[in-house]
Amino acid sequence: MHLQFYGAAGEVTGSCHILTVLGRTLLLDCGLIQGGDDPDSRNRQPFPFDAAAIDAVVLSHAHIDHCGRLPLLRKRGFRGPVFATPACRDLARILLADSAFMAEREAERYRRRQAEHGNRHARGFPDPLFTRVDAEETIAQFKTVAYGRATEVLPGATLTYRDAGHILGSASVWLQLEEAGARARIVFSGDVGQYDSPILRDPEGDGVADVLVMESTYGNRRHRERSETLQEFGEILRAARQGGGNVLIPAFAVGRSQEVLYELATHFDEWRVGDWQVFLDSPMAIEASEVYWKHPELYDAAASAVRRDAGGLPTLPNLKLCRSAEESMAINLMRGGAIIIAGSGMCNGGRIVHHLKHNITRHECDVIFTGFQAVGTLGRAIVDGREHVRIHGEQFKVNARIHTLGGFSAHGDQEDLLRWHAGVGGKPHTYLVHGEAEGAIGLCAALHARGARAEVARPAQRVDLTHLGGR
Ligand SMILES: [Zn+2]
Repeated sequence: MHLQFYGAAGEVTGSCHILTVLGRTLLLDCGLIQGGDDPDSRNRQPFPFDAAAIDAVVLSHAHIDHCGRLPLLRKRGFRGPVFATPACRDLARILLADSAFMAEREAERYRRRQAEHGNRHARGFPDPLFTRVDAEETIAQFKTVAYGRATEVLPGATLTYRDAGHILGSASVWLQLEEAGARARIVFSGDVGQYDSPILRDPEGDGVADVLVMESTYGNRRHRERSETLQEFGEILRAARQGGGNVLIPAFAVGRSQEVLYELATHFDEWRVGDWQVFLDSPMAIEASEVYWKHPELYDAAASAVRRDAGGLPTLPNLKLCRSAEESMAINLMRGGAIIIAGSGMCNGGRIVHHLKHNITRHECDVIFTGFQAVGTLGRAIVDGREHVRIHGEQFKVNARIHTLGGFSAHGDQEDLLRWHAGVGGKPHTYLVHGEAEGAIGLCAALHARGARAEVARPAQRVDLTHLGGR
């Protein structure tokens, strides 16, 4: 019995760990590497194991950096079950299809460039990493497991999911392993959400473990108080109403869009949301929202009460869902009174880019960022305060008021991570993964200060699970 860290040890994306019990092999997540130098080439590299020899995958949640290489695993011969919660499967279907669609489009662009310029100037790959057909075939391998239900996933390995409070259907993975009389309790945190975040329940941590594999994305940071964030949100909308223009909210399709809608609904009177027309202008965010709305059994007490009083979510009477391009373009005619939620969250594509073109030069408009903006994206250029930005090859002067609302993160901060860790009994040896160096080192130091046994996982590090007493 052993555990080996493969992806996301020492970096934020590409989560994947390998567990061996009774001669069979289980993967914990199989995520896509994103960002950094040439991620596409890195994702195409062979796995450090034979994909056909993997017996099962246990998925923590649907974010693409946790499930995005599953179709590739399938293409290379994996035919076993992928365990996931029902909501995780529903969201993974949307996210994998979108990822495949973008890869297909990128490959098409490559072929076109090659046809125009010949081989020398074409960058990229002629074939997508995987197609929408691959993604759909992968979803057919999913087997759903509800929270709290102990399920044998392989001989000698029993899985129990607990809510991780990160996105809908997100889970931490609790495994009981048994081999030739030796037992080991292994917990993989997945991504841990913030406590008291809207809609979702708090991360569940109570239980006992011998070995704990834990994320550390914001292991060295403190988030802003949510109450301050919400107060600022309300103030921005009040001032924007006086300005008479539109409000643009670039948002990720899964999680952030639903949170923003929920906050608008629950502060409907206080923020005078009824004075606006609210648009969710993203087919993918609409699909993801429908998954959120169809799983009320996963809501926290406050969201359950809101839903009960209103007879369902969403409760925004002035919300318009824009699926078609025509519906999206019709918003361009509105000079004021529109709150437009659209993707992509970092403005590096999607419908938000068109809305920016129509509104960013106008003094009376507002743009509200609610998430992290990576270097090199249009969103980052705007939040960095550039006077002019380039959109579709054209220069635009930034006259709109730009706001960055902190506190909306789907990840817990150091305090949340420590609180979750404290709930895991049995004094487990903790390996920190899924964080950049500062996050992992910061959390490691904080855990040491509390007397916990912790270390930052090294790529390819192997942990013996048979002789846990001897470590
Ligand atoms: Zn995540």
